[in-house]
Amino acid sequence: MNNNSSIDQSYTHLEIKIPLDPSANERLRSAVLSRLHELYGDPLPDAISDRVNAELDIFYNYFYSSLFLTYQKLVNCINGSGLPYYLFSSNGASLICYALGMTLVNPLPAHYRCASCRHTEFSNSADSSDCGLILPEKHCPLCGALMVSDGNDLPIEFFLGLRYDKTPYLALAVPHAMSDDAVSLLERSFSVTRKDPRDYKFPMEEGFIFAYLDIVPTDSDPESEMLWRSSSSAPSASSASLAPYEMTNARVFEYLSRPESFACYLPYRDDVQMIKSLLAADAVSVNNISDLSKICGLINSVNWFGFILPSLKSGAVDYRSTITCREDIFRTLVAHGLDSETSYRVMEMTRKGRAASILADNALRQQLLSHDISEDYLTSLVNIRYLPTRAHALELAMTVYRNASENVQG
Ligand SMILES: [Zn+2]
Repeated sequence: MNNNSSIDQSYTHLEIKIPLDPSANERLRSAVLSRLHELYGDPLPDAISDRVNAELDIFYNYFYSSLFLTYQKLVNCINGSGLPYYLFSSNGASLICYALGMTLVNPLPAHYRCASCRHTEFSNSADSSDCGLILPEKHCPLCGALMVSDGNDLPIEFFLGLRYDKTPYLALAVPHAMSDDAVSLLERSFSVTRKDPRDYKFPMEEGFIFAYLDIVPTDSDPESEMLWRSSSSAPSASSASLAPYEMTNARVFEYLSRPESFACYLPYRDDVQMIKSLLAADAVSVNNISDLSKICGLINSVNWFGFILPSLKSGAVDYRSTITCREDIFRTLVAHGLDSETSYRVMEMTRKGRAASILADNALRQQLLSHDISEDYLTSLVNIRYLPTRAHALELAMTVYRNASENVQG
C-alpha cells in the first residue's frame, strides 16, 4: 500500500482463504488467452505470446492461479457494485492482470494494434518507448483503420519481484462514508476475515492460499469526493468504459491544469496540498496521460516531493526527467551499466526509505560512483522515503482522468 502518512488511518485489512483448485491453471490460461486473442488476434504475435507464457509459468509455479482468479472476482464485484474507488496496486505490470480486466494499464512495450483486423506493430521510437499511449496517430497498413496505441513497458519483475517472491495484494481507497459498505459487500460475497492491520504473514495451510485486501478510507473533502463518487459510481457512464488510449481529450488536461480542479479528484488531503503547490508554481504541465502519471507518481513520493519541489519551481529540474517512480531508479542504474541485481536492490531499498543504510556500504557507493552515478544522484536517493511503482502511478492517473472527464463538456 501507499506509505503516505495520511493513509495510515483506520483501514480494514481483510484476509481471504482460497482453496487451491486443480482446474485453476487451465481456467486462468483460457481466460487470459481468450482476451488476448480478442485484442491481438490468434495466433498472438511472438513477443506477446512469449510474455504471457512466461507469466503463466510463474503463476503456476507459485500456485497463483486460484489467487488471481479470486482477485479478479473481487475487482469485478467492486466494479459491479458501482462503489467508487481508487485501486492501489502494481497489477499494471502483469499481462495476466491486464487480460483479466484487473487494471487498465497494459504492460507490453509501446505498440499499435488494429481493432479492425488485429494487426499489431511494436513501436521503434526510442522517445516514446515507455508510453505507447502518447504515440502519434497511425493507420493500419493492412486495412487502413485508425490504430489503437497502448503499452507501458512494465516487466513482470516490477509486479512480483526479481525472484517472483513478492506477496501480491490489493488496496482500495474508498470515500470515508462508504468504507463500511465496501467491507460488508466483500464479507457478503467472499469468505473473508478481518485481520490485524499489521499482519501480512501468509499462513501456511495445505490446500489453501491466502489473498489480502485493504479497504482504506479517504480523507479528502466530502465535496470533492462527491465529484469522483458521482462519476465513478455510474458503471454505464461513458467515462467508466473509457480505454486508456481514449484518454486524449485536451479539454480534460486543460481542466486538470487548474489546481482547484485537479485537487477535487485526489483521495487524500496531502496529495491535494502537493498538487496545488506544483500547479500554482507552474512546476509541471498536464498535456497528456503520460504527464499525468508522472505527476501522480511525484505526489505519492514521500519526502522526495518536498526535496525536489524547489528545483522544479525554479526550473532547474524538469519533472519529466526527474524520479517519479521506482522504475526510474532501476532504469537509470541499468543504463549506467550496473547489473540488474544491484540496480533492483538499490531501487527496493530506496523506495523503502533505506538508501542511506545501503549507501553506508562503501563498496556499493564506490561501485555506483565508478559507473558515473553522481554524488547528487546518491543524495537524491537518500532523501526518498517512499516511491510508488509506475503501474500504480499510471492507474491513479487513469482514474483521475476518468473521473475528471465526467465533469468536462465535449
Ligand atoms: Zn487493420
